[in-house]
Amino acid sequence: MAGINKDDRKSGNAWHTLSVDSTLEKLSSGDGGLSDEEVRDRLDRAGANRLPESEDRSALKRFLLQFHNVLIYVLIGAAVITALLEHWIDTWMILAVVMINALIGFFQEGKAEKALESIREMLSLSAKVIRNSRQQEIDAEELVPGDVVLLESGDRIPADLRLMDIHNMRVEESALTGESVAVDKQVDPVDADVVPADRRNMAFSGTTVVQGRAKAMVVETGANTELGKINRMMEDVEELTTPLLRQVNSFGKTLSVVILILAALFFTVGTVFHDYEVVDLFLAVVSLAVAAIPQGLPAIMSITLAIGVQSMARRNAVIRRLPSVETLGSVSVILSDKTGTLTKNEMTARAVATADATYEIEGSGYNPEGNIMKNGQPVDAGGEPLLEELVKTVMACNDARIYQQDGKWEMSGDPTEGALVTLGYKAGFDSYESDRIDQIPFESEHQYMATLNKENGDRYIFMKGAPERLTELCSRQRTVGGDTDMDPSYWEKMMDQQAEQGRRLIAAAIKKADDKTSEINHENVGSDMVFLGLVGIIDPARPEAVEAIRSCQDAGINVKMVTGDHLVTAKAIGLQLNIGNGKKAISGSEVEKMDDGELRRAAADNDIFARASPEHKLRLVKSLQADGKICAMTGDGVNDAPGLKRADVGVAMGIKGTEVTKDASEMVLADDNFASVANAVEEGRTIYDNLRKAILFILPTNGAESIVIMAAVLAGMTLPITPVQILWVNMVTAVTLALSLSFEPSESDVMSRQPRNPDSPILGGFFIWRITFVSTLIGGLTLGVYMWLGESSYDIETLRTIAVNILVAGQLFYLFNCRQLKGPAFGRNFFRNRVAFGAVGVLVALQLIFTYAPFMNRWLETGPIDLFDWMYPLAGGLIVFCLVELEKWIIASDSGFFS
Ligand code: ADP
Ligand code: MG
Repeated sequence: MAGINKDDRKSGNAWHTLSVDSTLEKLSSGDGGLSDEEVRDRLDRAGANRLPESEDRSALKRFLLQFHNVLIYVLIGAAVITALLEHWIDTWMILAVVMINALIGFFQEGKAEKALESIREMLSLSAKVIRNSRQQEIDAEELVPGDVVLLESGDRIPADLRLMDIHNMRVEESALTGESVAVDKQVDPVDADVVPADRRNMAFSGTTVVQGRAKAMVVETGANTELGKINRMMEDVEELTTPLLRQVNSFGKTLSVVILILAALFFTVGTVFHDYEVVDLFLAVVSLAVAAIPQGLPAIMSITLAIGVQSMARRNAVIRRLPSVETLGSVSVILSDKTGTLTKNEMTARAVATADATYEIEGSGYNPEGNIMKNGQPVDAGGEPLLEELVKTVMACNDARIYQQDGKWEMSGDPTEGALVTLGYKAGFDSYESDRIDQIPFESEHQYMATLNKENGDRYIFMKGAPERLTELCSRQRTVGGDTDMDPSYWEKMMDQQAEQGRRLIAAAIKKADDKTSEINHENVGSDMVFLGLVGIIDPARPEAVEAIRSCQDAGINVKMVTGDHLVTAKAIGLQLNIGNGKKAISGSEVEKMDDGELRRAAADNDIFARASPEHKLRLVKSLQADGKICAMTGDGVNDAPGLKRADVGVAMGIKGTEVTKDASEMVLADDNFASVANAVEEGRTIYDNLRKAILFILPTNGAESIVIMAAVLAGMTLPITPVQILWVNMVTAVTLALSLSFEPSESDVMSRQPRNPDSPILGGFFIWRITFVSTLIGGLTLGVYMWLGESSYDIETLRTIAVNILVAGQLFYLFNCRQLKGPAFGRNFFRNRVAFGAVGVLVALQLIFTYAPFMNRWLETGPIDLFDWMYPLAGGLIVFCLVELEKWIIASDSGFFS
């Protein structure tokens, strides 16, 4: 157990100089890995394989950052002015509000960040290890020095590893070295003094395998890895922001400039045209400043975002990059994988075709019960030599396994291969085994897999893959009477026969290799294989995908299917799913021949792209984007990464997808299901709606207050509300009413509207109109009642208290207008947001305290009002509510005018 001793650590890092055997010895481990007991022991000593949190975003810094905001600077300026005027209560109140605001922002942001963190944890890394001589999958944090890890292309390397056995391995190390070109790896020791980038026999934590496979031993974990030493977190801490939030922020900056200009103007008007005392004038200016600033808006927006992202995660769509939440609402095309996303990925072989006969297979799933039928009669596969050879070939050229667990048959590995193993069992070859010397793993671009095997002293190349690909590699076919020339028209007929039923096709081929062959690759398999026949495999469509596709289509989103499968298979499945009407389909070989202009047309015209490679996916995304489409694209393989990066919303598969794919994507599907993409679009649109509702709700408060103050100053009246009271209104409405909008459920028409135009400005015509309208309405009512009651014998405290209550009531009723952007308030959702009703209750309680509590009367200069005087706020609120409903109704009947 020398490897994880402290002393060793210090002298350490010489792992690259050791041979594989001495590494094993030094870490007291072996090919079979560690025992559970040993693992526990080492985990205690070495600690979890985790990097320490970065200190960048310490709590204190986060708190101080709350004050770094132009609007807050204006408020602090206001506090300074009131202090100079010795209006101490105002000074303290403004400072208290600044403080409370910062605290609320701090805690809400903290909560939002926690929520996002817990979502990210859903994406935590796992590792395939060998322990107790058995392969298993564990959380990467549980790795200890001495663990034996298996890697394949697409994996992220979970710790620092010494490579023991590699095959074609290339690793991309930009996370560590900044160099994005993948490097080849080796097993032999290297010199002691080379830099990490040149330690070719090591694989470092945080880098990714882009090609090949490897077996390796964990040598360093957690903070002791190279990555840990440079102390760079893998996930850069993402800021809690989106384009909309940024727009609101810059709106805030513009607003503060406007406020300063207005303040100067007011000062001039006040001194030149009215005989205000300088003190009063300053106070008015301060009032205007605090009135116009939407202090609560940024915090409400972050909370809305966090709540929305959490509810997306509950629906199996995990957001990795926040801005994509908004992009989701504008998505106009989804390019979806077929296998596993639109279909169940539960494969069953249904038919086999050889040169001489066709067989139908009974049974379903991975349960190997079912007859093999020929001409309607069960046959014994042992008596059918061509069938036997084909079935054994696809069993040998295969990495899947079926086994019985608790009486049920289970499969581990690739479902297509699982179906072939099941077929082998049905044919009675359960115990067939073959010695594999080398292999070419299946990859979507090459569309075939091949193995080099040794059987009875002879060497064979076994191959299986897409039939079009295999026919290119075969010059001969096997028949009962011996090998003959390929008969392409016969095979084409067989392929169509299977594919028309929506079946996936796998062909098999074989070749005797020379005794000296010990390695195979794409170059040396050659084109002289012998074709054995075809297998037709069904993979039923997911019933929920049909529903989800319809809902996308209603939402103005074009769903296109991109698959590696045969054109006819894809069309048949498309028909079941209502994609492309069974027509509108082209295959990869046609895409290959098109230039960018032709592809642009073809991408728009077709809904099904068959035999497509990851490179075609990338070209498709580019073509659609050139047409102004906003594209979401799903993907799982390493080679999908460029397409996912390029897509506006890259969607990685959580189960099937590799780490590399997840890193390249904006969103990860926990269940690999197309329906979750549709749900994410719905949630994305809802979040965007709720963000807009928050803006639409909060700004009129500020507008109304500003109007009241401005009008009063221009008319030379006493201020109807004091600065402190304004701050009170802003605070209480933000933490109650505005916050409740974050919980607003989806509007009933979210999935029947067209995608949002990404270029349309947030503060467009409708917003400017509505904000002006409601501001004037609430502000006007407040001023009107204030002036009218001012004629009677009310004292100023009571008058101001009534004015504040009108402002608050106006907002309270307006909340119910805002809950539906355009539809009527009393809709399906009216009672669905309980938080809104709770918020109303709390706000009413707060206003009662504001009005009647003696300490409030003292500090905020309010005065208790008579029961009868509550009529004004109530009536005012009702007027606002009814007029805004009327406005919505008028606008709805003339849709398109304000959009
Ligand atoms: P998709 O995921 O869109 O269905 P794939 O790239 O997985 O497409 O498969 C494309 C074709 O490659 C399949 O139609 C099949 O003929 C072949 N194929 C799929 N899986 C394997 C495999 N494990 N081994 C050999 N060939 C395969
Ligand atoms: Mg696939």
